[in-house]
Amino acid sequence: MTEQIFAEDAYARSCEARIIHSAPGAIQLDRTVFYAAGGGQPGDSGVLRLAEGGEIRVLNTVKDRDGGAILHLVPEDAPLPAAGAALVAEIDWARRHKHMRMHTCLHLLCAIIDAPVTGGQLAEDRGRLDFDLPEPTLDKAEIEARLNQLIAGDTPTSTRWISDDELAAQPDLVRTMKVKPPSGQGRVRLLAVGDIDLQPCGGTHVKSTGEIGPVTVRKIENKGRHNRRVNIIFKEA
Ligand SMILES: [Zn+2]
Repeated sequence: MTEQIFAEDAYARSCEARIIHSAPGAIQLDRTVFYAAGGGQPGDSGVLRLAEGGEIRVLNTVKDRDGGAILHLVPEDAPLPAAGAALVAEIDWARRHKHMRMHTCLHLLCAIIDAPVTGGQLAEDRGRLDFDLPEPTLDKAEIEARLNQLIAGDTPTSTRWISDDELAAQPDLVRTMKVKPPSGQGRVRLLAVGDIDLQPCGGTHVKSTGEIGPVTVRKIENKGRHNRRVNIIFKEA
């Protein structure tokens, strides 16, 4: 299994690692700073700098459909260093930081709109959440004002791991969370945005909401009878 450094420190841009398996187009490392696509957040891109010289571009990072292993996707014709080869893994930080900002913003959006979230996606320059709401009652200007208010409040975020047993012993915690965590895996990581939002989340987040920067609600779409899609972009170009 790969040590997931990004889960403990979202700000780690690079790490030393060793190859544990390589196949055409996909490399596995013993530890990594590369976030694997999931939960609506894209996988990281970047570079693997080999200790023996040379570098390999990482186009994307995903979880293997079967075993769940973290796969660093590289060009099919990239050299394949043997298992054990040492390297420095470095993400495209400018891109990842935008993902962190938008991801954290979507937590705020989730807190503002009191309805079940049915889907979500984010990219470098935009993000969206789908809400299960029967009526198209959402007010674009009002949501944008509240989002920017929460961003300007510069509230710290924090993560903590909690065991299934601890969770079961604290029913109040489950009630405060928007999403009930999956149980049966032993432990789950919770992301808190002050007392604004609390939910299980495996993504990467900024340390404080002010780091998100001003945002715009670009549009609210009606995607079916019960589905309202709120689209967010960063205010700066
Ligand atoms: Zn999250």
